[in-house]
Amino acid sequence: GGDRKSKHRTPAFLTFDEIGGQDRAKKELMEALDFLIKHEEIKKLGIRPLKGLLLTGPPGTGKTLMAKASAHYTNSVYMAASGSEFVEMYVGVGASRVRDLFKEARARALKEGKDNAIIFIDEIDVIGGQREGGQQREYDQTLNQLLTEMDGIHTNDAPRILIIAATNRKEMLDSALLRPGRFDRHIEVDLPDKKGRLAILHIHAKNKPLAEGVSLDLTAEQTFGFSGAQLEGVLNEAAIYAMREDKLAIEQPHLASAIDKVMMGERTDKETAN
Ligand code: ATP
Repeated sequence: GGDRKSKHRTPAFLTFDEIGGQDRAKKELMEALDFLIKHEEIKKLGIRPLKGLLLTGPPGTGKTLMAKASAHYTNSVYMAASGSEFVEMYVGVGASRVRDLFKEARARALKEGKDNAIIFIDEIDVIGGQREGGQQREYDQTLNQLLTEMDGIHTNDAPRILIIAATNRKEMLDSALLRPGRFDRHIEVDLPDKKGRLAILHIHAKNKPLAEGVSLDLTAEQTFGFSGAQLEGVLNEAAIYAMREDKLAIEQPHLASAIDKVMMGERTDKETAN
């Protein structure tokens, strides 16, 4: 994923109401999470437990938010890791980190008296990408450990473990990860449409004074193709512009300049990256 800095602003606990737009993704996700909540029914019907959910889509669209909200919704312990954390120089370190992560998740759930633990793995493609290149052996062991842990999850486990993984490069994933009983449910988290952008702008405008007559609807109109993270950036930049002009509230021109700024920032990022 992309916008690392914004992660630190994400609160520890959050509900689906704090995620703007993404109505379809949220609905699909909640339906899947009911597998955890309605555990007894699932067991009686002999349905196999939900072990892995894959969130796919561009950076900054709220995949991390969705994983956190999932933990809250299901009353689960939340643990997070990123695929890139498992990449080490020494063979075996990645695998033992995966083992520790699952061990810690179980221990924390027991300690906190929770029924479930949700483990969020961002950038799953880093360990679960199709085999190529030099560090192959290390990646294989890390991936194999993850698959072993997932295969070891059973209906009667207490606490139950659910792994939510995210990637913006689904086509890169090793097919072993996508088999039934692993990450066999995929939810697309796309860039928001206008209605979604407006909802996201409203969420992030909550703690910011807007001048009378400011139209977030217009801002939503003008931000086609922006991610949630970029929209959050627009409001923040707009507040900075207001401050520079010694204004106590954000005015429409501040929002317009902020849109340009965020768009330019992205362009510069891309140019330096290439
Ligand atoms: P990455 O692929 O970079 O990991 P991500 O999809 O996990 O991205 P998040 O980390 O969930 O994106 O979002 C980054 C920030 O952008 C959030 O902390 C939040 O401020 C804002 N944001 C993104 N999407 C939404 C949304 N749908 N509603 C409200 N805020 C959002």
